[in-house]
Amino acid sequence: MTVLDGFVWTSQQWGTALRSRALGEVADHFFTTRQLWLRGEGEAADWSRVAAAIGVPERRLLRLNQVHGREVVVHCAEQGGRGARLPGPAGPGESTVAEESWPAADIHMTDDPTLALAVQVADCVPLLVADRRTGAVAAVHAGWRGTAAGAATAAVAAMAREFGARPGDLVAAVGPSIGPCCYVVGDELIDAFRASGFGREIGTWFARDESGTLRLDLWTANRDQLLACGLSEGAIHGAGLCTASHPEWFASYRRDGPGTGRIAAVIRSRGARS
Ligand SMILES: [Zn+2]
Repeated sequence: MTVLDGFVWTSQQWGTALRSRALGEVADHFFTTRQLWLRGEGEAADWSRVAAAIGVPERRLLRLNQVHGREVVVHCAEQGGRGARLPGPAGPGESTVAEESWPAADIHMTDDPTLALAVQVADCVPLLVADRRTGAVAAVHAGWRGTAAGAATAAVAAMAREFGARPGDLVAAVGPSIGPCCYVVGDELIDAFRASGFGREIGTWFARDESGTLRLDLWTANRDQLLACGLSEGAIHGAGLCTASHPEWFASYRRDGPGTGRIAAVIRSRGARS
């Protein structure tokens, strides 16, 4: 088991998963590797493996119809896990839920330990957050659009509003995603971040080399947003693993095109501590 800056590789029945040790002290979670492709013929079977590995029935592994925004879906334990947003109802013997029935959003959260929350990425940032005090958890999908829209900020604000989470109690893990080494972007992205109200920080998130090539550092952008929300520096853990640079471990849209697989980032609450 190799240790990467606070992250560990762990063995599942289907292969290797990545976990943050610090987040693991608060919530069950993992990031999948390319041994689960999560696309094409084996997609449904792969998602049932994800559900089994996080310890919930398939129907209680909730996903999103991701749209690159900052909308939040909340599943409260008081709703008995049967909140209005829970897709269903499943018929007898039915175990999978059609993708189009998942809510259109990029952030979801719950304090219900009988649910697991997933986001799927192929270069975008998968961000998992858990609250040490209330046990509430969130899964966030943040590509450049979501990052420019302030998805991480929206997630922290919603955890505070919905579950009374204090930013200082939150632990976050930034999973494998395209790194500043490989994420070459166009100047229009700077405009998009500016239009969202970001200012001086843009200069540290974008870097232009001697040849004029512009690169975006989504890891730092998301970390900075979490810091600005009040998370402590030591509570934000980045895997620092670039999907495009590591074909042996991860699918990458930028490297392999639209037919590539997906990484699932999944998290499950252990319930309130107190
Ligand atoms: Zn890279």
